[in-house]
Amino acid sequence: MSLSRYNEKRNFKHTSEPEGKIGKSENQLIFVVQKHAASHLHYDFRLEMDGVLKSWAVPKGPSLDPEIKRLAMMVEDHPYSYKDFEGTIPEGNYGAGNVIVWDNGTYLPSSEYKGSAENKLKADLHKGHISFIMKGKKLKGEFSLVKLRGKDENAWLLMKKEDKYATTADVLKKNKSVITKVTLETLEKKSAQNKAANEKKKLQKN
Ligand code: MN
Repeated sequence: MSLSRYNEKRNFKHTSEPEGKIGKSENQLIFVVQKHAASHLHYDFRLEMDGVLKSWAVPKGPSLDPEIKRLAMMVEDHPYSYKDFEGTIPEGNYGAGNVIVWDNGTYLPSSEYKGSAENKLKADLHKGHISFIMKGKKLKGEFSLVKLRGKDENAWLLMKKEDKYATTADVLKKNKSVITKVTLETLEKKSAQNKAANEKKKLQKN
């Protein structure tokens, strides 16, 4: 049900993004952060919950500096299999542009809880304040997402908590995909070359 908005926005004949289906990790909950050059560059921060990826678009990207709070706009739930999506969303489609998997890993609630980790996270999300430990390749340690009370109901803040992983060093300088090791810039170049080659082929056929 929660994936209907995701499916409505996309035509799966034209985009290689996965169709919206519920999926689940066997053991620990996963997270993924994608770097996405759509009309504006942003990072998509996604947390597995309830068989989908709860998603926020973070225009300036995550930071490991506890002094820095980053605006995170909640967007539609994405399917679990989106965790592996890397590639080009063709022109004319929703979110057109290139995507790399900038970071991934597992995550869990940072405070004590009874029952399942997932239920704790869901309850905190519902309250608009969720704190969790990230075990990624780039993002590590405790983070919080806090809903802003005010005009925009989708506006949240993403922030790092003080711990041994906190640093003022800019984590966004680590700019390669954790899956393929390509940068977004390399992917963009390749995708532009492929497009040009395809157009040339079409012309030659005519
Ligand atoms: Mn995006």
